[in-house]
Amino acid sequence: MQETVAADYGRSWYAATAVEAPIRPPLVADIDVDACVIGGGLAGLTAAREIARLGWSVVVLETKRVAWNASGRSCGFVLPGFGADITQIVERVGMDAARNLWMLSEAGIEYVRATIRETAMPGVEMRPGWLDVSKVDNGDEMVARISLLGQDFGAVVEGWPTEQVRAVLRTDQYFHAVHFPRAFHIHPLNYALGLARAAEEAGARIFEQTPALEIDPAGVRKRILTPSALVRAGQVVLAGNTHIAALMPELAGTLLPLTSHVAVTEPLGPKLAEAITYQGAISDTRSANFHYRIVDGDRLMWAGGGEPFARSTGRVAESFKAAIMRTYPQLDGVEIASSWSGVMGFTMHRMPQIGEVSPGLWIASGFGGHGLNTSAIAGNLVARAIADSDDHWRAFVPFELCWAGGGLGRVFAEASSLVRNWREDFDAKQAQKRERQRREAGDALPPPDWNEARAAAAPAAADAYADEPHDLRSSDTWPYERQPRGELTPDDEVEAADGPSSAAEIDWRQAQRSAEPNDDRRR
Ligand SMILES: Cc1cc2nc3c(=O)[nH]c(=O)nc-3n(C[C@H](O)[C@H](O)[C@H](O)COP(=O)(O)OP(=O)(O)OC[C@H]3O[C@@H](n4cnc5c(N)ncnc54)[C@H](O)[C@@H]3O)c2cc1C
Repeated sequence: MQETVAADYGRSWYAATAVEAPIRPPLVADIDVDACVIGGGLAGLTAAREIARLGWSVVVLETKRVAWNASGRSCGFVLPGFGADITQIVERVGMDAARNLWMLSEAGIEYVRATIRETAMPGVEMRPGWLDVSKVDNGDEMVARISLLGQDFGAVVEGWPTEQVRAVLRTDQYFHAVHFPRAFHIHPLNYALGLARAAEEAGARIFEQTPALEIDPAGVRKRILTPSALVRAGQVVLAGNTHIAALMPELAGTLLPLTSHVAVTEPLGPKLAEAITYQGAISDTRSANFHYRIVDGDRLMWAGGGEPFARSTGRVAESFKAAIMRTYPQLDGVEIASSWSGVMGFTMHRMPQIGEVSPGLWIASGFGGHGLNTSAIAGNLVARAIADSDDHWRAFVPFELCWAGGGLGRVFAEASSLVRNWREDFDAKQAQKRERQRREAGDALPPPDWNEARAAAAPAAADAYADEPHDLRSSDTWPYERQPRGELTPDDEVEAADGPSSAAEIDWRQAQRSAEPNDDRRR
């Protein structure tokens, strides 16, 4: 590993396998631009790329190196949806607006996929599929989820019964699962480095080692002070995640900083392929528990956590080792090769912060542990709002900026995470016990009633979208404007397998109106 890379990005497996990236010089002379983006993570880089592609001059100011924190340290799962559970979103904004938001979340995935393809991005290693497995034997909740996503939202989603799950994940800890064939996983640091290059190719300028120290957002030209120079810009995008605290303490106060951990094992040889044959991303609960995937042929990348008070990476790595062996006893003797952590900014409602805080001051933040697709949405919506006065960002108006509770919020988050984890472990153990009893009695596991869900879900192949180009910039191909999808017909299923723009059109504006509490552009 190059020492500069290790110093800037930590001793992660990603840093060790990062593609060559230039060190960008800091800003040393005053500059006048149309837009200034503060923060060189995925949100800021996407916004800058899209602002530049729309013909505006734009600079990115980054305190350290691009993607040194969450964006370059994540598990790399590019998933549909948001941090908030879809049923909570429906409860908050209603069916039409929730469907519309789900479409946006899928468009975020497609943006990442299209960007990787368009730019022939090196080292990203896109692999399809996400399997969200259950550790309990009650399939009702999953059936309801599949019905909502497949039938009501027209999402491509499959229900996998327990036998199918255990055929690819050889552990008796798992029961049924929801499979999302259009999701995929990537090397997130290489994606972010590629995105930075793509932003520069579009005309954006990126200054590393350039913290924004003060901002005067009043007036038509906003002034941003950095250590050596002043930036004047008509529009400012705040994309600093929790690190924005010194610049904008009130905004930072709307985020709860949670630390998550990732570890990569030493090569496991053929026994890994015997334990896990699924090559996509795997999550084993709905809340913050374990996520994993195979990397480098025969290594396991294992991630988890989401703690308000950071633990030592070494201790976490030991606990991951134990969890791997508990889940897959056949991987006994597994050793961790590298482990690291990153900080995520969580909002109270678990939805991202996307919108205009005051005239010309935009926010693209609060993506929590679900930032790969949502930062892509944010970058696109904010760029289009700035350059085209596009108002699709208003779909997020119902999710206001609200205080995250400061120190007390952290204590509360710690307590509720302990309770949730304890509850999930307890439920999983009970499910195991029931299964043992069923086995002893010679009874089979009652399968979930997938019929309703199956009727709704398109049986798409994992690589159904392999060659689909997608351009979010063009309003002609803006994928959010689709009609509500009803029952799937055989023709629809073929369409769904053909590509992401195949679903019938949703009336975005109507859905958006139902999501908006009033006409006030500001929050
Ligand atoms: C361990 C881990 C695993 C994760 N796994 C996944 C996953 O599998 N899938 C998924 O979808 N999401 C995942 N996430 C979440 C996802 O990585 C984040 O939500 C996303 O990367 C946030 O991007 P960002 O641009 O908002 O923030 P960041 O990546 O934190 O970037 C913000 C940048 O702003 C800069 N900055 C802040 N203030 C200033 C200032 N005043 N001046 C200049 N620069 C400033 C910072 O230096 C930083 O580089 C994970 C996160 C972690 C930590």
